[in-house]
Amino acid sequence: MKIIDILKTEQMSLSFEVFPPKKETSYESVRMATEEIAALKPSFMSVTYGAGGGTSEYTLAVAKNIKDKYNVPMLSHLTCVSSSKETVHARIGELKENDITNVMALRGDLTPELENTDRSKWDYRHAIDLIRELKEAGGFCIGAACYPEVHPESANQKEDIAHLKEKVDAGADFLTTQMIFDNNLFYNFLYKIREAGITVPILPGIMPITNANQVERAIKLSGAFMPVRFKAMVDKFGSSPEAMKQAGIAYATDQIIDLYANGITNVHVYSMNKPDIAKGIYCNLFQILGKVF
Ligand code: FAD
Repeated sequence: MKIIDILKTEQMSLSFEVFPPKKETSYESVRMATEEIAALKPSFMSVTYGAGGGTSEYTLAVAKNIKDKYNVPMLSHLTCVSSSKETVHARIGELKENDITNVMALRGDLTPELENTDRSKWDYRHAIDLIRELKEAGGFCIGAACYPEVHPESANQKEDIAHLKEKVDAGADFLTTQMIFDNNLFYNFLYKIREAGITVPILPGIMPITNANQVERAIKLSGAFMPVRFKAMVDKFGSSPEAMKQAGIAYATDQIIDLYANGITNVHVYSMNKPDIAKGIYCNLFQILGKVF
């Protein structure tokens, strides 16, 4: 099933993101965790792809396993900046062979090693290059990333949104945001991209922080703004793992309810490979909404 067909309806949707194992020895534990999340029957699930090639090998295996066993629509991530055309074309071929028709087309982060290489030799510079190739290959529903708080490499939001418009014009069918902890940033961004003529569905990305150690990593990764009430929660409950877990689930649930209440129908949760967190959010929403997705 194409994800755009889910996103275009007026029904509320909830999707979960998981990541593949780094090595074969951890495949089994990742398989079990991702299957537990799939058993919740979310609207769809996405599987990340390691930019440096580290965790790229198992993305397709994880996506295919869930699709075949649980019939959950799958979104397979694919990055391009550290890859040759040959590798990317091989990956696109494998996706087709395995009937994975939804792809999140990403550039990937610029690692310090990449930054120091000769860019004139790169086959891909931006996500738009990959979007064009997926479009040319045909048959894919294509997602792309966007940044309510501006991508760190962009000079300003206007420039960032102009590049986002180019990605949509090149064929991105929907957008997913970098993690946000303050919904108002998403509402402002939504207003600005609609004003810029970007009309495709957009999913806010919600990251449940259920462990105090995650905070620093999340800020480093995303540069996301942490609201005062979020910081207070971490200060108060961060030293107690069980309390922090429940507080993090409650905070993420609250964000999602606010989004649904304000007419946003599609929400993406960075559930990582944590079935208990996905279940906690799912059960809370079920009790409030009285429905499954
Ligand atoms: P781009 O769209 O290429 O944008 C990167 C920067 O370049 C931005 O500043 C943009 O404004 C600018 N830009 C874009 N197009 C042009 C152009 N034509 N000319 C000049 N400048 C331009 N990383 C992974 O490694 N694996 C994953 O699975 C993964 N999943 C992600 C999922 C989501 C929802 C998000 C938000 C991010 C994800 N990332 C992942 C991280 C992502 O790879 C990084 O954020 C990366 O730095 C940018 O990727 P992009 O696809 O947005 O790049």
